[in-house]
Order: sequence, then C-alpha cells, then structure tokens
Amino acid sequence: MFEPTLAGSLPKPSWLAETNKLWPQWKNSGKELASDKADATLLWLKLQEDAGLATVGDGEQSRQHFVHGFLEFVEGIDFEHKVKMGIRDNRYDAMVPQVTSELRLKGRVHQVEARLARAHTKRKLKMTMPGPMTIVDTVADRFYGDKVKMAMAFAGLLNQEARALEADGVDVIQFDEPAFNVFMDDVKAWGIDALHRAIDGLKCTTAVHICYGYGIKANVDWKKSLGDEWRQYEEIFPALAASRIDQVSLECANSHVPPHLMALLEGKDVLVGVIDVASDVVETPEEVADTIGRALQFVPKHRLFPCTNCGMAPMDRDIAQRKLEALGKGAEIARTRYGA
Ligand code: ZN
Repeated sequence: MFEPTLAGSLPKPSWLAETNKLWPQWKNSGKELASDKADATLLWLKLQEDAGLATVGDGEQSRQHFVHGFLEFVEGIDFEHKVKMGIRDNRYDAMVPQVTSELRLKGRVHQVEARLARAHTKRKLKMTMPGPMTIVDTVADRFYGDKVKMAMAFAGLLNQEARALEADGVDVIQFDEPAFNVFMDDVKAWGIDALHRAIDGLKCTTAVHICYGYGIKANVDWKKSLGDEWRQYEEIFPALAASRIDQVSLECANSHVPPHLMALLEGKDVLVGVIDVASDVVETPEEVADTIGRALQFVPKHRLFPCTNCGMAPMDRDIAQRKLEALGKGAEIARTRYGA
C-alpha cells in the first residue's frame, strides 16, 4: 500500500551536464558521455532504492530534455534549422526543430538505459516518454499540415518504442502530457485517442503524467494567472477515467488544484504528487503523510501511489535526493497511520 514512485526526471550530476538547467549541455561526448550517462543512471537507481521507492526509473539521465530526447531518434525532423515558436498556448517561446518529411524511428530510443536499469534493480521499473499532444506542441510542422495526423504519426512511433521497452522488461510506461492541462478540448477530441494509439497492444502498466510544469519562471508566472482554484483537471479527468490508461500522475502538494477533483479518476491508479518540485523547501515525512491523508478522502487506499508533482530535472541534486527520502519516509508513516 502507498508504494512510492517518481514522476520521471532527476537532476543530472555536475560531471554529466550543466546543473540547474532544463536544457543542459553535456560535459563530455562520445564514449565518455555514454559511460557518464550509465554511471548517473546507476547512481540514481541506488538512491531511489535507498529512499524506499517501490517503482524506480532511470531519472532521464540519458536525455537532454524530456521531449527532444525522443525527437533526436526520429527521422524526418530537421534539428539544424530550429525556429522560434510559442509553446503551451504561447506561455513561452522555444527554439523548436521542424518536421520536414514522413516520420520514422532511426532505431531504439531508450534501449541502453532501460536494459541497464533492468539489469541493476529488482524493483518495478518505469520508463517515461513525451505524449503525442505534448510532442506536436513542441515541434514546428512543415510536412503533415494537420496537427491530429502528425500526433497520430508520433503516437505510432511511441508505440513502437513502448513495445520494445516492454520486451526489455519495463513494468510501467508513462507518457508525459503537460499539454493536456492547456488544450482541454483537444484532449477530448483526439488527445486520448492518440494515447490509445501509443499504448496499443501493451500488457505492462501504462500511465499518463499531467502537471503544471517544472518550477521554472514561465510556469510560475502562468500559474499565477490561473486564479485561486485550478480546475483544468475537472475537464479532462472524466475522459481519462473512461480511457484504457491504467494510471494518472498528477500534482497535489502545494497546488491550487482542488483535491476533490481526484475523485473524477474513479477506477484508475492515482499517482498523487506529494512532493513540490517548484520549491527548494524539503517536505518533512509528516507533511508527506498529511498530503497522502488529504488525498485519501478522494482516492481509495489500494489506488493511491505517492509520487512527485513533476520531474525534478532542473533542481539542486542534494535537495532532490532529500525530497525522495521524505517521499519514502512519508509513505511509511502513511502506511502506519492509514493502513489498517
Ligand atoms: Zn510534469
């Protein structure tokens, strides 16, 4: 009960990449970089296990960014000529690559880190990939001329990699869809269809992560504009409850999301964010247990998985480690407090 897990990314050690950045530059290249990525993956596996996480991940140590880490392995994308585009409904500008021809995977995307992690942990293993809607909101289309068509093309590639990850022994495959909180009508019109395409044929556990973003300035400013109560989840959770996705990862700690909206996810596992990734203040285990207690009013015990609100990539490494420890200890307290 209350098996802790994480949303996905973890900070990169200073010998691997620039620290405290969302788009860090690698410190090395070639063979050295490959072995540095492997070392960082193993380091975080150990720290997640020591913190008591039941489902662990690779901490996304092998990718520079959660969307472009996937796109780099896709043929038909021009990374040489990036263009400026407003993303997440113009919340911020990003330099994005362009889709210029039919999309195809160049090969395996996350095989190396997934097999490495599988060989070195007996815990459940989760791998994350960007969701189709979030991908199409992070590239410029010069080929398909239709957002949905392009999303379905990406969903097909995600499915190809997801099936291979399942064969590598991955237990949970999660798609990150921060765009679901921005384009709520599109979620109902085609976003969930695209996710279904991405999970087609999978027998492992499937998850979708929907958050209000990393704790970067553009997101913090955006959140200020959303008012006292954030009700985006209210529009999309009923559709997700009716979907074939097994788990929904959402933010809860220090969030303006009304907790009762979690009740709309009836029948799904809920990965409740009990760790705030937009604050460097480390939660106490008691605070974590309190947040679990609040969520228990709306999520059944056997469906509740304590988690981080979002990825921790841009955070200080030491703070992230202490937050993971608070997550594990808080889940333990909650088992004693609410377990009976
Ligand atoms: Zn997130």
